[in-house]
Amino acid sequence: MMQTNIASWMDLAEAEAADQAKALGLAAFRGRQIWSWLHLKHVTSYDQMTDLPQALRAELEQSAPLQMPVAAGVQRSKIDGTVKYLFEMPDGCLIESVLMRYQHGYTVCVSSQVGCKMGCKFCASTLDGWERDLLPGEMLGQVYAIEREEQVQVSNIVVMGCGEPFDNYDNVLKFLQILHEPKGQNMSYRNMTVSTCGLLEPLRRWTKEAPPVTLAISLHAPNDQVRRRMMPIANRVSMQELLDACRAYTRETNRRVTFEYALAEGVNDSPQQAEELADRLHDLLCHVNLIPVNPVTERTLRGPAQKRVQAFRKVLEEKHIPVTVRRELGADIDGACGQLRRHYRQETEVNP
Ligand code: SAH
Repeated sequence: MMQTNIASWMDLAEAEAADQAKALGLAAFRGRQIWSWLHLKHVTSYDQMTDLPQALRAELEQSAPLQMPVAAGVQRSKIDGTVKYLFEMPDGCLIESVLMRYQHGYTVCVSSQVGCKMGCKFCASTLDGWERDLLPGEMLGQVYAIEREEQVQVSNIVVMGCGEPFDNYDNVLKFLQILHEPKGQNMSYRNMTVSTCGLLEPLRRWTKEAPPVTLAISLHAPNDQVRRRMMPIANRVSMQELLDACRAYTRETNRRVTFEYALAEGVNDSPQQAEELADRLHDLLCHVNLIPVNPVTERTLRGPAQKRVQAFRKVLEEKHIPVTVRRELGADIDGACGQLRRHYRQETEVNP
């Protein structure tokens, strides 16, 4: 009889799957077979693993049942083909993922936690607090399910869905490593982006050990005073500390940092604030990504008019800070983080 305290096969790298098979008294190649079914062929049940003996499939079902996300809702943008998925996990948790179509391919925006602890004032993900971390296999499951359902091959991922990736550091890192495995998804690290609100210790650790993925920092403000109005994390980490850690990151890795800057009308969107931002970033290898705040019903912050966005951008350009204005995708389908999940819960609470 197999042990029941074994790791979920979805959370393992290929070599670990081989080791786990051996530890269970199976041949190592059985572990690699299971791994390949999950991470290359994206099956959702042991029964589909047709080169495994029937008895083994039944035993696996008993000892390590697969915990796959199941689509509970899908919204399709009529404007740009963006598709938003709401997944339900076997424990009832709800997570959101988004498929975006760009000229260079398909990108999935992955959630790293169920809910979020960070409390940013413009974000819907955090309104109901944090429920739990997601495991590597549950992040992979979002990508694989979308590939299966939409019949597409995903070439890029961004960890920009619900949750704070650096508050679930090990699981996020493992997720990226498994995505990169040559015999599985084989995704280049260059096609992956992790976005953080800037937790300092994990950022320092990331600088030392992270694979060459793009690092995005949610900055959103030119100084601590404004940042504290938008993000509670700013009470714990000053911009000086954060930018110094980013400088160390660029020095150690030679990689550029992307700063995300969500423009909120009357809060952080004035030309003077653009100047202040440019002055603070002038010696940093970086790129600024401007995005007008996507209004969330329960939040008061709003995005400024296009004219003001362009004026902000112009100041940065004139000061030689590389800047882009992020194209808004999925504006007609609860575009902002955490909105779909919230609406679904509210609807099901009203009409159970
Ligand atoms: N916790 C991580 C990643 C999740 S959010 C982080 O803070 O980076 C991904 C990006 O979307 C972040 O830059 C976040 O600040 C931004 N975001 C969240 N809600 C938004 C909204 N309503 N409008 C615009 N950007 C938003």
